[in-house]
Amino acid sequence: MSHLAFCVPAGAGHLNPTLAVATELTKRGHRVTYAAPEFAGDRIRETGAELVPYESTWGNVKEPPKFDRKDLGKAMAMNLRETKAVLAQVERTFPGPPDLVVHDGPMGWWGRLLASKWQVPAVVSWPHLVSNQHWKLAQYLPVNPLSPALLLAMARTMRLAAKYGVTGTSLTDGTGSAAQLVFLPRAFQFAGDTFDERYHFVGPALGERAFQGGWKPPADGRDVVYISFGTAYNDRAGFYRTCVEAFTGTDLHVVLVLGKQVDPASLGPVPGNVELHDQVPQLDVLRHAKVFVTHAGMGSTMEALSFGVPLVAVPQMGEQRANADRIVELGLGRQLAPGDVTAGSLKEAVTSALGDTGVTASLARMRREIDEAGGAKAAADVVEAVLKA
Ligand code: UDP
Repeated sequence: MSHLAFCVPAGAGHLNPTLAVATELTKRGHRVTYAAPEFAGDRIRETGAELVPYESTWGNVKEPPKFDRKDLGKAMAMNLRETKAVLAQVERTFPGPPDLVVHDGPMGWWGRLLASKWQVPAVVSWPHLVSNQHWKLAQYLPVNPLSPALLLAMARTMRLAAKYGVTGTSLTDGTGSAAQLVFLPRAFQFAGDTFDERYHFVGPALGERAFQGGWKPPADGRDVVYISFGTAYNDRAGFYRTCVEAFTGTDLHVVLVLGKQVDPASLGPVPGNVELHDQVPQLDVLRHAKVFVTHAGMGSTMEALSFGVPLVAVPQMGEQRANADRIVELGLGRQLAPGDVTAGSLKEAVTSALGDTGVTASLARMRREIDEAGGAKAAADVVEAVLKA
């Protein structure tokens, strides 16, 4: 038995893909310890893992930065502040050096630094598309390389990395780590064939999520349209009002997730065929959905594709635009730019995706790719192979 530290921020898009991997590893007899904020404790303990809680500096952030031209410097500075705050706590409280660290690539930098301090291998977990010399996610996140805020944040990040014996590049892109776990199938990755054997495209790792309760489809048998903008970029009352307008008077059943910030009363009258929720057990809803209108976060995208649900992508930031472009390129659904969403265009996109046999065939192909990628079991195999090496 080995002791594995999971260092992943508590945002659902980052944490959720790792939970089934932790479950698989605890079933195989390993001890898994997450360092995470207490509010994520239920989901983490359900995997059989232990929790070492820390206070996050992200608590009062209403909507995270979009990592684009305007605010990459701000995003890096926020990540750096969080990294220092978490290090100051976890270095004191973590129960002894583990045998290996699994850490989130884009945001769990403190995991990489601790792995270096503890002199144990690091496995990087990527909840979104990865980059190499052939394809770069950065093309969707245009930045001003001379922005003073960015240069300052980068200099400070390099200084912190050096203090822990890590180069700045390996901290931010994961190079030099023992392995990279990518939670999508290689077929979904742009230029997928150009990534070498260090990249393990294990696909989505889905598990049980008893902590969320359940959801049942309507008894009248209507087709279910599921609409959600995920957990981070979802303060979009205007969009939700357009959704209500689009599907009022139709024979579709709409499950509309508003997130924690939008007051349902602000939408005005809502017809009987539209359910409103602040959040839902998404996997249960997707099991029954005929179309998913989504912000195209990678977690949501992969979960829908695992169940063969066509996508109507309305991306809210650069990383999601990359996913949406790939969805369209692979024939897995439609894309609407936020500025083009009207009740009419949304209804048209949903009804045309519903009856599109080309999309159905592409979804079946992608489902096979996902099955072959192996999910949580394949990810656990990678971790065990690193432990053996
Ligand atoms: N999710 C959920 N219920 C909801 C909304 C989201 O369980 O009502 C989960 C969803 O299944 C996914 C994650 O939250 O695992 C969202 O991740 P994604 O990468 O799609 O988007 P983010 O929230 O990071 O923008």
